Amino acid sequence: MSEVRVVLLGPPGAGKGTQAKSLVASLGVPHISSGDLLREAVTGLTELGLEARSYMDVGDLVPDELVLGMIEKRIGGTDCAPGFLLDGFPRTQAQAAALGDMLNARGGPLEHVVALAVDRTEVVERLAGRRICPDCGRLYHVRFEAPQNEGRCDGCGTELVVRDDDREETVRQRVAVYENRTAPLIEFYRQEGILHEVNGSGSQADVRGRILEAVGGQA
Ligand code: AMP
Repeated sequence: MSEVRVVLLGPPGAGKGTQAKSLVASLGVPHISSGDLLREAVTGLTELGLEARSYMDVGDLVPDELVLGMIEKRIGGTDCAPGFLLDGFPRTQAQAAALGDMLNARGGPLEHVVALAVDRTEVVERLAGRRICPDCGRLYHVRFEAPQNEGRCDGCGTELVVRDDDREETVRQRVAVYENRTAPLIEFYRQEGILHEVNGSGSQADVRGRILEAVGGQA
């Protein structure tokens, strides 16, 4: 494939991050996760991180102006010349509009928006069992993707942790924020004619196959 600009939409716990990581090799474009970029900023104690943290800790959205600057800089990187796979961005109407403007200015429109659909009980189960390596960022799941040694990262042996914002209260808030602020983007992109609704239930391989079929890529 030559150029490909894709957005992955879906509620927290729909498997966007996991799918994005496995899709980048097939699509040949970088994976850009706004959540990962923000967590890096938090860990690095940058000005952006210090401002973003209070919103992230309670499951609220980081204000658009902070996120937009960060994304504009990232998609302007030379590795994004062939395109990108955006995960977790855009999350508001204003972000979607700003992304459209940025891409118009750069000459390459968004080609596909994949909305992963997963039912509520499955989302909660996925988030509750999620673990992350605080050192290398690798994701696990106690049921669906358990590490070889319980509680330890396969790659670096570090003790796995529950992400701060995967705690129950925060998860409920994140799902509510998704429904109020982000889910309306599904309709917005349907009207743009670039939406693919993909069933996000089932094995990772099945979901991956469905996404690739939707965006016309190869496994
Ligand atoms: P994620 O890993 O995508 O679930 O993002 C974790 C948290 O980072 C979210 O709950 C928000 O607080 C923040 N965040 C990530 N992406 C965005 C975005 N596009 N706009 C606003 N806040 C975001």
